[in-house]
Amino acid sequence: MKIAKRARRKPNKVPTKESRNIKTEHRESNLPAVEKYKTCSICRNIPSSAAEFWKGGELQGDGLPGAERALKVVGSPYYNDSTSHTNSCIKRCPECGTIYQWEIEYEYLVNGSEDYITLTRLSEAEGEKAVQRVLKEVKRAKKKFRDDAQAHLQALDQLANQKQIQKAADYFYHHQLVYKEDISFAVPALTKALEKHSHTAPKCDVGRSLFWVLLEFADNDETHKQQLLDLLQAVDPNKNPPEVQELIQYCKQTQK
Ligand SMILES: [Zn+2]
Repeated sequence: MKIAKRARRKPNKVPTKESRNIKTEHRESNLPAVEKYKTCSICRNIPSSAAEFWKGGELQGDGLPGAERALKVVGSPYYNDSTSHTNSCIKRCPECGTIYQWEIEYEYLVNGSEDYITLTRLSEAEGEKAVQRVLKEVKRAKKKFRDDAQAHLQALDQLANQKQIQKAADYFYHHQLVYKEDISFAVPALTKALEKHSHTAPKCDVGRSLFWVLLEFADNDETHKQQLLDLLQAVDPNKNPPEVQELIQYCKQTQK
């Protein structure tokens, strides 16, 4: 996932868009009487609401407090704090568990984009509600991944047309890489498809797509290498596309 990198320069101007602050201010009144964030070494350095304004890649004013960087995105990697587009997520303090709402409004302008980031501390009740909402959404997305995988597994098993096999390989590659999904359940079908997709050309597109998803799988976890080796070594030597040997070699060389 692309995260916009911008040079942090010396602040020279205080944010001027006060109007956008209004929507975050009302939440302060909902905070309980005794708050754990007050004694937390991270949260006590974060105000109840803070903002950061970027214009043409330059920070205007002081920006968010440095302690904000210690907060963890809830529901990652399905949620993130990428600043390359309009985005929102909730963040949790790793020390005291206080929840914050993080938002960015990204506006592309010809003479330099404008980003307005806000961070608002939520009350315990609001935070709990927000966490539940995020966890529910992550659960839904994970279920969708497994549900949609079925059609791709079928395409691999039936060795459908090349386009469908490639689509299946890309599907598992993407979810493994971006969403850190465990694709163990699809690896036998991916290996079988590579075996059945008999070819000798070293630059076969389908062969390469299957190669990359299996290589990424092997790299993710030490136990995956042996799991993949067992499958690859059972491949019929008469139907042995070059990628199989390449993967066997890779797993053996990198195995600890
Ligand atoms: Zn805290």
